[in-house]
Amino acid sequence: TPLTLDARLDRCAAEYGERPFVLTDDRTLTYAETAAWAARLADGLVALGVRPGDRVGLLMANYLEFVPLKFAIARAGAVAIPFNYLYRQEELAYVLAQSQCNALISMTGFAGLDYLEMLDGVAPGWDGGGSEALPDLRSVVLLATDGRTCEGVLTVDGLGELGGRNPGAAAPGLRAPDDLGDILYTSGTTGSPKGVMVTHDAVQRTGYASALSRAFEDGRRILFSLPCYHMFGYVEGLLAAMMVGGAIIPRTAFSPADYFEAIERHRATEILCVPTMTVALLEHPDRLKRDLSSLFSVLSGAAPSPVWLWEKVRAELGVTEVVTGYGMTECGGAMTMSLPEDPLERASDTVGRPKLAGVAGMPGDLCVYKTADPLTGEFLPAGVEGELVSTGPTHMLGFWNKPEESALALRDGWVFSGDLGIVREDGYLQITGRSKELYKSGGELVMPKEIEDLLTALPGVSQAYAIGVPDDRWGETGCVWVVPEPGATLDAGEIIAFCKENLARFKVPKHVFFAEPSELPATPTGKIQKFRLVQQAKERIE
Ligand code: ATP
Ligand code: MG
Repeated sequence: TPLTLDARLDRCAAEYGERPFVLTDDRTLTYAETAAWAARLADGLVALGVRPGDRVGLLMANYLEFVPLKFAIARAGAVAIPFNYLYRQEELAYVLAQSQCNALISMTGFAGLDYLEMLDGVAPGWDGGGSEALPDLRSVVLLATDGRTCEGVLTVDGLGELGGRNPGAAAPGLRAPDDLGDILYTSGTTGSPKGVMVTHDAVQRTGYASALSRAFEDGRRILFSLPCYHMFGYVEGLLAAMMVGGAIIPRTAFSPADYFEAIERHRATEILCVPTMTVALLEHPDRLKRDLSSLFSVLSGAAPSPVWLWEKVRAELGVTEVVTGYGMTECGGAMTMSLPEDPLERASDTVGRPKLAGVAGMPGDLCVYKTADPLTGEFLPAGVEGELVSTGPTHMLGFWNKPEESALALRDGWVFSGDLGIVREDGYLQITGRSKELYKSGGELVMPKEIEDLLTALPGVSQAYAIGVPDDRWGETGCVWVVPEPGATLDAGEIIAFCKENLARFKVPKHVFFAEPSELPATPTGKIQKFRLVQQAKERIE
């Protein structure tokens, strides 16, 4: 049955009571404790002035507190906006203003970032009464991680201080399952981050479908350092675990040594990874020193994983279940997943099939997808590459305060992903690139991935990014940014000559620029921002 997020937590508390829900190295929260905390914190939020329908930002690393706070926001009838806690001041300023955030719950600092100072920079002179830059912001609560305080800001040593200020103020049932529950910002890979509006029910369905596709049984313990503000950690970790009364083991940062230690300590049954993390785990010596016998499942998603990686994961981590998935914030999280019983080649060549929905009154699959002509939007038959479009009950309501972008991304109930892909005859999906990154040179469409794959195979090239830049003669022309391997010396002329030998003429880049990895513009989560590479290339060419 569809429930609001806070009602789901209460249901879980009734059913799973004393079972652990959140496990960290020094504290454990059971389901009953989490629900009790969330209720008290919701009262505290109401005492702070949070009203139903308000937007409450949550800027917090994967601390234990994140979980009761997240549900408290729902119980207070407010909309949660979990922000990326690695944002720098400029990015934070953008999302706080764009979301018209009414209250912010955060920490005084984290991982070398000083939020107190950042907030002062974002809203100078803010004293609890709103500021010119952030007219909607009425209250700020900071969990004191270093004992500092600031006027107008409620700094608390623990959540106990926030809860219990107004017992019984937030009665349950302020919202319905189909109401807006979260505004989740996209990663900002192709432009400014967009605030995706999803309902209480949507994200739970994605989480439930994940549990169903992986044939979850009781007692799963999911370990992840992927942040809870992002769909991956939120849905595949937190919500999927809840659906079966499982536990989460959130980590505040990724390191292979920490993953191995925590798997042993908390008897984790599965880990969430992106492929670069999976590689780092396989290369780390602690793999052999720790007792990993509890671990049997690895979810490595959000980017393609080669088949050799899957084979190594099975053999060297001793797991029986390896799965991958694809999704985007706009679709309410991962909409596809490979099945545990799929052959490894299929999990490697594709991003899986639609997750199983398993909800009465719905077809068996969580979503329906097709490809469409990226220029005209016309649907294409199976097997033909095009822009991936999808529809289903987990998809977004639109982008917060961006009517034009919403109308482009959401047409007649279909989400236009901006990703290129192929729907195979067997229903499995292949992702081949991003449509925004295609460019036209002399009227011919160029696929950056083809050039990038060619160049990364060249000795001395560590990474390559192909983009289109304006050109008087050809409309657009190719430009590549190349990251050399340490110690390698590369020559632009040679790279162009190599492309001429191996590519059709219109695909041969005209410009080659070299960069160190640290010079490439990236999102806080490490995705390369090609739209910024285009700007930088334009500046150099002029
Ligand atoms: P923005 O929309 O702000 O430019 P973003 O698209 O990177 O940023 P997210 O919603 O966090 O923001 O990421 C979703 C995107 O990640 C997908 O659209 C797709 O391009 C990529 N992606 C996710 N899973 C996979 C996968 N398994 N294989 C390849 N790409 C993937
Ligand atoms: Mg996107």
